[in-house]
Amino acid sequence: MGRYPKVVLAADRTLMSPYRGISLASFFGCAPALDFNRDHGSFWYQILRNQVTPKVLFDFICNPIEHTNGYANFAPYGLRKVESALLRDGYSREDVVVAHPDHIEKFIGPETEVVGTYEMDPLGMGPVTMTFTYGRKHMSYDEFYNRDLHQRINAAKKRTGSKAKVVAGASGTWQYNYDPAKIEEYGLYGIVEGELGGIGPEIDGAAGAFFDALIAGEFDTANPFKKSQFKVEIKEFVRNDRSLHGRFIHYWNEPSIDEIPNIVNPSMHGMIEVMRGCGRGCKFCDVTLRPLRYYPVEKVQKEIEVNIKYGGLKNAWVHSDDIFVYGLNPRTTKNMQPNREAIEELFTGIMATGIEHTNPTHGTLAGAIADERLVPNVSKIIKSGPDNHIGIQCGFETGSIRLIGKYADRKLSPYRPDEWHWVVKNGIKVLNQNYWVPAFTLIMGLDNDETPEDSWETIRLIHEIETEQPDSKFTTTPLTFVPIGLLEKSDFYDIGNTMDPAKLGVMYKTWQHNFKYGIQKFMGKVGRDNPIKNWFFTTLASTLGGVPLSAMEGYARRKGPDHERVIEKIKANYW
Ligand code: SF4
Repeated sequence: MGRYPKVVLAADRTLMSPYRGISLASFFGCAPALDFNRDHGSFWYQILRNQVTPKVLFDFICNPIEHTNGYANFAPYGLRKVESALLRDGYSREDVVVAHPDHIEKFIGPETEVVGTYEMDPLGMGPVTMTFTYGRKHMSYDEFYNRDLHQRINAAKKRTGSKAKVVAGASGTWQYNYDPAKIEEYGLYGIVEGELGGIGPEIDGAAGAFFDALIAGEFDTANPFKKSQFKVEIKEFVRNDRSLHGRFIHYWNEPSIDEIPNIVNPSMHGMIEVMRGCGRGCKFCDVTLRPLRYYPVEKVQKEIEVNIKYGGLKNAWVHSDDIFVYGLNPRTTKNMQPNREAIEELFTGIMATGIEHTNPTHGTLAGAIADERLVPNVSKIIKSGPDNHIGIQCGFETGSIRLIGKYADRKLSPYRPDEWHWVVKNGIKVLNQNYWVPAFTLIMGLDNDETPEDSWETIRLIHEIETEQPDSKFTTTPLTFVPIGLLEKSDFYDIGNTMDPAKLGVMYKTWQHNFKYGIQKFMGKVGRDNPIKNWFFTTLASTLGGVPLSAMEGYARRKGPDHERVIEKIKANYW
């Protein structure tokens, strides 16, 4: 290659995979990859060595995205935003490359000034990952492939003598605060921190100014007296009597809608954005710290058209922190009553682009049922039906009335915390009747304040839904508490060392629900149009589905009678 590009942008393989078209499989990056402490004399070591989830299986499901001469054909939405912002701010097309992770070395050379990496769970500390790896006792695939990306970048720099500054950005960069040795290991020049939660790094409002300052060396030293929208902080960490340093660059001015550029190349999964921020104020969530802004319909359509024209896509994943908040003003709208007209207009505009399928990424149960015409009307617009289910991620959080009232009361608005169980049951009913399937997330050890009675309330609620609505469709994923948002000063919930019997019960019940009501019932429907794919997933589901249940039973036996009694109680009363 001739002259190398000034700016190379990339993300690791787990963020650059179509996951064979199965949307739920994108969680697979959270799976455990390596167990460095496995007994070398054990059966599993003889078969798999240190691998936990076999790499051959992971690599099959997490298939690499297509590329054209090393240029990624699709990229994470947030990375596409930075790319388009740089082009808007005066960088030429030759200056900016979004590279495929397997080919990034092609683009790094003497003229490269910056390599920007987009990182959502770089060290495997996200809530789902922490749950699957027992609090990072194993290395997850998210971490494995992020490490692989940085090793490739460093090898390319060494080979070509490149002095490019490597900068990590996006919603997972907070993790470097908890394992600062990785900053040195990966050779990171800087870490972008601040109001960057969610999917679109807010840096897209001022990407040109940011990269100009970075290249000019303005972030080399911290100067607290210099007026700038970027603040450099050199943090010092002491670990094992060693002093470690990291350069953290903060940016806190959230761009207005007019300052947010539209993507110019296709995004992964046809992702587009319709809003930033959420006015519900859950204390455990960082999205809530951001001001609420909505894209007008025309802006949404322009991004979908890019995905159709350059990516041949026929679907749109609508990134939304709570889709049912779209178009309302949380300060003036009584009880967060949804703005049905605005939401209908949005989805009418989305479908008018000619796509065949769309689904919002997130929504609240309270918002879904606060207006009884809302979900049925939207369903008609987006043509949901028996052959077109709409997946949506919803926060179940906890069955505990006490905890939901204390940490997320506005998530329930217009309902009261003591109506939470009714909201959950009714929300599932309304969504399912209209062919929507909620994927629920729960928080284990919320603010380290969850008592055994809180956990049992969660277990009982899931069981009540199963018995009262046996045909209901939903999945439940427990996540361990991570201190972000208004609770950022709290401690992580340490699942590896402090899982009391009742919390094991929550994990056991949620997985049993997914296995019995989800995997066994619905996995056979995956890839119905493709017999090989269908066979693969049915076999995979029946073989691997029960493994976590057996593992938890084994864990309970090792922990002692209190843990075992919980498993037995669930089997006897809540199965
Ligand atoms: S409703 Fe969801 S996005 Fe909004 S603050 Fe609560 S957890 Fe965050």
